[in-house]
Formats: sequence, C-alpha cells, structure tokens
Amino acid sequence: MKSIAIIGSGLGGLAAAVLLASSGYKVDVFEKHSYPGGKMKRYHVGGARFDFGPNTLTMPDVFKEIFTVSGANPDDYVQFKKLESHTMNYFADGSTFLSSSDRESMVAQLATFGIRANHYDTYVKSITKLYTHAVNEFFPRTFSSLQEYASLRLLRSISAVKPLTTMHDFHQSFFTDKRIVQMLDRYATYIGSSPYLTPATFAMIGYLEYVDGVYYVPGGNPTIAEAFHKRAQELGVTFHFNEEVTQLHVNEKQTITSLSTKSYEKLHYDSYLLNGDYLTVYPRLVAKAYRPSFTEDRHVKEPTSSAFVILAATNRKTAANHYHQVYFSNDYEKEFEDLFSNKSYPKDPTVYISNSSTVDTTAVANTGGDNLFILVNAPSLTNENRYVDKEDLKNWVYKQLEKKGVFIKEFVIDDLVITPLQLSEEFHSYFGGLYGYTSHSLSQAFNRPATKGKDIKNLYFAGGSTHPGGGSPMVVQSGRNAANLMKKNLK
Ligand SMILES: Cc1cc2nc3c(=O)[nH]c(=O)nc-3n(C[C@H](O)[C@H](O)[C@H](O)COP(=O)(O)OP(=O)(O)OC[C@H]3O[C@@H](n4cnc5c(N)ncnc54)[C@H](O)[C@@H]3O)c2cc1C
Repeated sequence: MKSIAIIGSGLGGLAAAVLLASSGYKVDVFEKHSYPGGKMKRYHVGGARFDFGPNTLTMPDVFKEIFTVSGANPDDYVQFKKLESHTMNYFADGSTFLSSSDRESMVAQLATFGIRANHYDTYVKSITKLYTHAVNEFFPRTFSSLQEYASLRLLRSISAVKPLTTMHDFHQSFFTDKRIVQMLDRYATYIGSSPYLTPATFAMIGYLEYVDGVYYVPGGNPTIAEAFHKRAQELGVTFHFNEEVTQLHVNEKQTITSLSTKSYEKLHYDSYLLNGDYLTVYPRLVAKAYRPSFTEDRHVKEPTSSAFVILAATNRKTAANHYHQVYFSNDYEKEFEDLFSNKSYPKDPTVYISNSSTVDTTAVANTGGDNLFILVNAPSLTNENRYVDKEDLKNWVYKQLEKKGVFIKEFVIDDLVITPLQLSEEFHSYFGGLYGYTSHSLSQAFNRPATKGKDIKNLYFAGGSTHPGGGSPMVVQSGRNAANLMKKNLK
C-alpha cells in the first residue's frame, strides 16, 4: 500500500486525507496544533461559543462532495442551512441594504435606490458567466503540465473573465449608486485584496452571495472540519496532533525521502502533501538548494490584507442583530489605500460583525446575549505595524461602532482579541495575511502556486495560499485537486 504524509490539518489537508484514504492509500496527518481545522476553529469566550475563520460559508456542495466521493452521505456528518437574506449593509449616510439570494427582495430594495430591475438582471447574468468560466476552467485544474497552461479552452476562459478590468470598474459599469458599488466592491476583501486593483474576474463572488446563497452550519462552522476529521478516521487515517513537522529530507534526485518532526526522526512515505502555508512553511521545511523556483517569492509577492478580530460575548442582545452585518466607511478608496499602500489601519474603517447566535442560540445558551465576531481589515505585517496595543485598538474599534450607533462595550461579559501578529505566529500566515498573496497583478491572480511545484518530484500543495484561492470552498477544492493528482502520479 502506498503511503502519504499530510503536513497540516487545515481544510485543504483534511479534504485530501479523506479522499486519499478512501482510495486505499495509507495516510498520516501531522498537525502542530491539538485540533483539526487550522484557521477554522472554535473559541469559547465569556461563556459563549464563537467560530473563527470562515463565518461566511458559500458553495456547500464543494464540502459535501468530499463525503460523497469518499462513499458517505454528507447529511450524516454536517448540515448546511441557507440564510436567504444574509448580510445587512449599513452605509455611511445612514441608509441600509439587506443582501439576499432572493431576486425579488434584491429588486425591491434596489428600486428604493433608484435602480431598475433590468440593471440587476444584467449584472447577475454577467457574474453568472464569470462564475461558470471559473468553476469549469479554473477551480479543478492542477496546472501540473504545460498542456494545462496552454489549453485553448482555458485561454478562451481567461479572456472571457475580464482580467484587464478592475472589480470596481466592473461594478460601476452596472450601477451608478456609490453605496451599491461599495457593497459589491467588498467582495475583494474575501480574497484579501483591493477592489481598485483586483481583476473583475473575482466579481464572481457576487454570484455566490446573490444566486447560489450564503450558508451556516448549526453547532458552528468548525463542525465541517470536525466532520472531515471524523470521516478521515473512519477511513483509517492516523492523526498526529501537537506534532510539528520540522524538516522534509530531499535526496539528489529531488525526491523527498522522509520527514522529521519534533518527536520522530525520518519517517518515510511515498508522497507528501503540504497544507501549511506554502509561502512560509515550504521554505522552512525544504532546504533552499532544493527549491530554486521558490526562492524569490517572499520578496516579490504582495501579501493579502490581514484582520484585527474581537470575539465579544455580551450579556444582552445588541444592535448587531443579523448573522452578517457590515458598517461601511465613508471613503472606501482611502481605506484600501491605507491598507495596501500605507500598510496602516484605516482611520475610518469598515467593520464587519458576525452574530451566529441570531440563528443558532446554542452558541449563547449560557449567556443569553450575543456572540459577536468583530473584524476590521488590517494591513499585512511590517516592522512599523507589527506590534499594536491590543487594548487601545480594541477600544478604538468599539468607539468606531458607537459612532455608527452600535453599542457593545458596556454589555461585554468578556472579549478576546486576535491580531495579525498572532495569525502569523499561530498559522505561519504570510506576513499575517489571510489568503497568501493578493490578486492585484495578473500573475498573482492567475498564477497562484500550483498543486505541484516544479522542483520536487513527490511534493504537492493544498491550502489557502495555493491554486485556486483562499476562501474555504476553494481550499477544499485545492485538497481535492491535490488528492486527484497524487492518485494519478502514484499509480
Ligand atoms: C479571520 C479570518 C476570517 C475568515 N473568513 C472567511 C470566511 O468568511 N469565509 C471563508 O470561506 N473563508 C474565510 N477565511 C479563510 C479560511 O479560514 C481559510 O481559507 C481556510 O480555513 C484555510 O485552510 P487551509 O487548508 O489553507 O489551512 P489552515 O487553516 O491555514 O491550516 C493549515 C494547518 O497546517 C498546520 N501546520 C502548518 N505548518 C505545520 C508544520 N510544519 N507541521 C504541522 N502542522 C503544520 C497549521 O497548524 C494549520 O492547522 C477566514 C480566515 C480568517 C483567518
């Protein structure tokens, strides 16, 4: 039986573990933390339960298919529930808009902004086209051969997805209302990028929110990672928690022969899958001489934005009474300039709050209040912004919310802050960024690290910093792509 080592039990590593084990391989997973799921993680603060990492869940079928392909019924492991009206948007001028995957609701609200239904329908037609190209031509590719890069269908698709128009310009071509454009432009932050620099291709995220739908998992979104872990164990995968891999040993034929961890010396496998951050963990584990194609990456690739997060348990219900709500800044362009050009916290930040207790009261069974996941986009780490005064910044965020009419601080039972530096230390995330590097240039957007690098014969990659991208469904797809390619090459 061929053997595979997976380094990291994030969503990408877990998805690959399930698929490889169900195809008959012996799979060992090494994870430096004590739990499966990586950034998809539960917290308990002040008696309330919180989801860290993915709060906005889309594309449930991508998750479910991992169970189906492995021969199991996904419904036996995890339930996905749709939030039809999912995100309340609060604009700086006091107006609001409740985003929904129900066309009638969207059309009725847009009418109050003076926007006609046919404009919305034209927009939806266009994002549907973008999405269809992406799902058929980009997501499942592993970019492991020249033929894949040179595929005519791929080239046709690339030209159809408007790579030379920015997301902001794309949205402006459908809507003149600045607030609606701002609401749509926010999707660039789902890939840690700026809408003023990101190709319109990524406007397809709108398709997920307005057509396909936004979901949540009762019991908390990390149930997905726990369910993958359970399925993997049923299929015989061995998990080694609290076991950081410290080195991958490469021979003169550019093949990995073994790995070492803090407690094991030279464990041998046929193939290796790295799920830890490609941009930071790969160079730690593989000596420089064996990875000539990589060497420059760190210095030339612009990191994605990071996040300053507060998990606040309150003793009563607050004004943040939707599952997802966004309190927009007045000057969005300035906000992204601060984040990406000045590498500083925006003076007037947009604040996102997730309150899963609005639909899942089990999260606050002990408190009866809210479980608020409060996120402000943060710059990637530099020497200047590396250390922040957590308490000061937290109080500043509460103050910003108070200016917008949302009072939280006085009702807090307990709160916990997670900074970009913590993200970088805990998950080795690239300069604290959430999704590897930005999609601001064509090469960064369309040439993400492939499922298999050029340098080492039996090493594969899956996770948010690789192809096809950073959101949790894409990460699961990356695990699936890696499993498929490994199976093909191990035959
Ligand atoms: C604040 C925040 C908000 C987010 N919001 C959303 C959202 O709303 N929707 C969405 O879809 N996505 C969201 N994401 C992104 C999503 O969480 C990630 O894309 C996804 O969870 C990443 O999975 P991954 O497989 O890349 O690995 P990770 O979760 O990064 O896990 C990699 C694992 O590898 C382990 N590891 C690393 N190096 C080693 C080593 N040497 N030895 C052993 N183990 C190692 C790490 O400990 C970690 O557990 C968010 C992320 C964050 C941080």
